[in-house]
Amino acid sequence: MAPNTQSQQQQEKLHIFFFPFMSPGHQIPMVDLAKLISSRSVTTSILSTPLNLSRFRSSILRHNVSTSSSSINILLLHFPTTTENLDSLPSRFQSNTFTQSTTLLQPQADDLIRLHQPDAIISDINLPWTAQISRKYNIPRITFSATSFFSLCVTDSITKFKPYEFVTHDFEPFLVPGLPHTVGISRSQMPGRFFRDMGLQQFFAQIIEAERDSYGVVANTFCAIEREYVEHYRKTSGKKVWPIGPVSLCNDKVLDMVERGNKASIDMDQCLTWLDSKEPNSVIYVCFGGLCVFPESQLVEIGLGLEASDCNFIWVIREGFRVGLAIDDLEERVKGRGIIMKGWAPQILILNHPAVGGFLTHCGWNSVIEAVSFGVPVITWPLFAEQFYNERFVVAHLRIGFGIGVVDTGLEWGSEEESGVLVKRNRVKAAVQRLMGVGESVREMREQVSRLSELARSAVSEGGSSNVSLDLLIVDLLAQRKERLAKGEEIN
Ligand code: UDP
Repeated sequence: MAPNTQSQQQQEKLHIFFFPFMSPGHQIPMVDLAKLISSRSVTTSILSTPLNLSRFRSSILRHNVSTSSSSINILLLHFPTTTENLDSLPSRFQSNTFTQSTTLLQPQADDLIRLHQPDAIISDINLPWTAQISRKYNIPRITFSATSFFSLCVTDSITKFKPYEFVTHDFEPFLVPGLPHTVGISRSQMPGRFFRDMGLQQFFAQIIEAERDSYGVVANTFCAIEREYVEHYRKTSGKKVWPIGPVSLCNDKVLDMVERGNKASIDMDQCLTWLDSKEPNSVIYVCFGGLCVFPESQLVEIGLGLEASDCNFIWVIREGFRVGLAIDDLEERVKGRGIIMKGWAPQILILNHPAVGGFLTHCGWNSVIEAVSFGVPVITWPLFAEQFYNERFVVAHLRIGFGIGVVDTGLEWGSEEESGVLVKRNRVKAAVQRLMGVGESVREMREQVSRLSELARSAVSEGGSSNVSLDLLIVDLLAQRKERLAKGEEIN
C-alpha cells in the first residue's frame, strides 16, 4: 500500500468514546448503538464499571468475534461506591446521591481521553460532567437521548413557556404551546414533580447547562413516527439531530436477544417452548421496566387482575420484590396460562414472538419503541419521569394503545402507606381483556402497530432513514476530525 494511502486510511479511522449512564433504559440502547457504529469500521470504546460491564460483556464479545470490521474496546472505570447501577439502589430517594457520585468518575475518564484522544464523545444526557471533558480537549460531545424527540420538545416547551403556571390545581389540564400538534398535560403528570421529590433539581440544571455546548443529539427513534418532532427539535434547539433507531433491531441473534441488558431469569428454551405452545397474539406481556417500584398491595391487584382476565400472560416482577401472600400461589392457580418472571426478562425475545399480542407497559421510551418495533399494541400505565409524555405520544399520536387510567406521577416512589393502590384488579382485568379481545378499536391499533413495525424495520435497513442518519453522523464526525487535523491539533 502506498504510504500516503495508508496514512489517509489512518486519518479516516474515527475513534468514538461511549459514556453510558448506569441504568438499564440508558445503558442497553447505548450498547446497541456502539455495536451499530463499530459495524461501520469506526473504532469504538465503551467506558463502564465492573458490575455494569458484567451485564453486557458477553454481548460485546460476541459482537467482536462476529464482526469483520472494528472491535469494541472496553475501558474500565472504578466506581467509588458499591452500587453501580440506578436499579440497585436500596431506595429511590438515593437517586440524587447516585447521579452526583457519577461525577467522581470524571478524573478517570479524563485520563483515558488524554491517553486515547478520541475524535468524539457520545455521552448519555445524564452524565453532564462529560461536557467539561469535551470542552477541555475540544472534542465534540454528542448527547445520547434515551427518549423521543416528542418528549424532548414537550420538555423544552414547558421549560420555556411555563404553561403550568396558569392552572389552578395539579389535575387541571393545560396545552403545551408551540408544538406541531395539540398536546395537553397536567402538572400532576410532569416529570418536574418527580425530580423535585427526588431532590434532582440541581442535577436537572446541570444537564441543561451541559446541553448548551453539545454538538448534537442522537436518539433511539426513527423519522417515520415523529418526523415533525425531529424537525421541531432541530429548529428550536439549533442542534444537529440524528434519529438512528430502533437500535434493539440490531440484535438479530437469539442469544443477543436473551442476554440483552442482563442475564435472563428464565431459561431460554423453557421460555420459547412455552410461547410456542400458545396461539398467535394470545399472550399479554406485563413489564414495568428496570426501575419501577410497586408496593406489595399494588402487585397483589395486578396479579389478581391478570388471574381474573383469563388471558395468557407473562408478568415480570423486579428482583427483590415480594408479590404478597394473596398471590403467593398465583402461578400454581394459573398453571399453563401464566408465567411470573422474578428478575430480568428477555424482553425483546418475548415481544418478538408471534404468541405475544399485547404489552402492559410503564411507557419507558425503550419499551415503547420496542413495542413498535415488534408490532405489539400496548396498555399504558405511566409512573414517573417523562413516561406520561410517552403515553400521550403512544395513545394520541401513534394510536397503538390505550391508558389504564393513571393520572398522577410520583406516587409509587413513596412508602406503601403514602402510595397504596393506583389501579385496582378490576381495571387491570378490563384493560387486559379489552386489549386481548376482538373489539374494533383494538383491531385498528393492531393494524396500525404492524404498519409501524414495518416502517421501523425499513428505517434501519440499507438506505432507510435511520441507517442513513448513522452514516451522516459518521461523515460529520470525519469532517470534524479532518478539520482538527488541518489545524494541526494532536490526534491519535
Ligand atoms: N428490560 C428487559 N428486561 C426486563 C426489564 C427491562 O430487557 O426485565 C429492558 C427493556 O427491553 C428496555 C429497558 O430494559 O430496553 C428498559 O427501558 P425503558 O426505557 O423501557 O424503561 P426504564 O427501565 O428506563 O424505566
